[in-house]
Amino acid sequence: MLDPELIQHLSELTAQRDRHHLISATIQAINKLTGAKESTFFDVHKVRHTDPKSGLVAQKILLVEPLDPTGKEHAVGTFPDIMNCLNRRSHTTFPPDNKQPLTRSVFPIIVDQEVRSIFFHKTDHYGQEEKDILSFALKIFVNMEELLKTKDQDPLTGLLNRRSFDETISTVLDQCNHNPKGERMPAQGACLAIFDIDHFKKVNDVFGHAIGDEVLILFARLMEQVFRHNDRIYRFGGEEFLTLLVDADEEKANAALERFRESLENYKFPQVDQVTVSIGYVMVNESDYPPVLLEKSDKALYFAKNNGRNQVCSFEALVANGNIANIEHAADDIELWD
Ligand code: GH3
Ligand code: MG
Ligand code: MG
Repeated sequence: MLDPELIQHLSELTAQRDRHHLISATIQAINKLTGAKESTFFDVHKVRHTDPKSGLVAQKILLVEPLDPTGKEHAVGTFPDIMNCLNRRSHTTFPPDNKQPLTRSVFPIIVDQEVRSIFFHKTDHYGQEEKDILSFALKIFVNMEELLKTKDQDPLTGLLNRRSFDETISTVLDQCNHNPKGERMPAQGACLAIFDIDHFKKVNDVFGHAIGDEVLILFARLMEQVFRHNDRIYRFGGEEFLTLLVDADEEKANAALERFRESLENYKFPQVDQVTVSIGYVMVNESDYPPVLLEKSDKALYFAKNNGRNQVCSFEALVANGNIANIEHAADDIELWD
């Protein structure tokens, strides 16, 4: 006889339409079905780290809880159980000891031979049945995660696509201002920026569409290198891209965008050589709706295009300097639904 509770959790897991809710539903299902006392989900990020003293470049492993809206990074060394599991690349169980009264189990989630995430679990009973449930739930998680990815990914560059932006921007902006319990947090600061490659039509005309596509792919890789893992990067369409930089005040956001503009300017593209970009951005104001934020950053981009290209323009700065007019919308001016 099938357990109705198990079926109910299965249906909830497969009903999720974004990764954040999928992780949350997976944790809930596992906690309920195994009687776990505590479960935490971490994403594993490998970053290049240059030792300031020796100048040597090494790889550093950071753990990030995707449900933590602050996007705080933890050095893997602060979690010896996880470090042990990462070294073994297999499910590892640690029995209770003097310091830890609960059994800890660490499950690596391995996709394309990379440990992409870690499921960390504490319980007072961990037998074969619990182990099977955990393994089964995490397999469903990976299948669902892959499905969600194809839906949200731009096929050429692998970045998030426009549909993902439209579907999740309100939730993402909300996450910037609330913790997982839904409590309000001090605003961390976020910035929405639109990027439009300069004279891209010429690249296609002179070098052909395939080389144009290659420029778009390399442009996307450069964005991933320059921006942080918890910033969101979208291909908005054609040669237009968009980022939502989180946990950044105006100064940090401007510096990050300027760093990208300059890296692109100095990047040597095969055949094409130099490509430049114009960028318009706006700091996210809690009272702004996504369409208003888009309109403001687009207006700043338009200014950048008409005043020499290859530059970063801030909507607020342009308004403050009297270069463009502010955009004032009454809330009932905005159409939220079609
Ligand atoms: P501006 O500096 O004003 O932005 O000029 P631009 O030439 O970049 O702008 P325009 O909008 O005139 O041209 C955009 C070009 O981008 C035209 C279109 O053929 C090309 N494009 C759009 N999507 C793709 C794509 O997926 N691959 C390639 N290779 N080209 C694309
Ligand atoms: Mg364009
Ligand atoms: Mg363009």
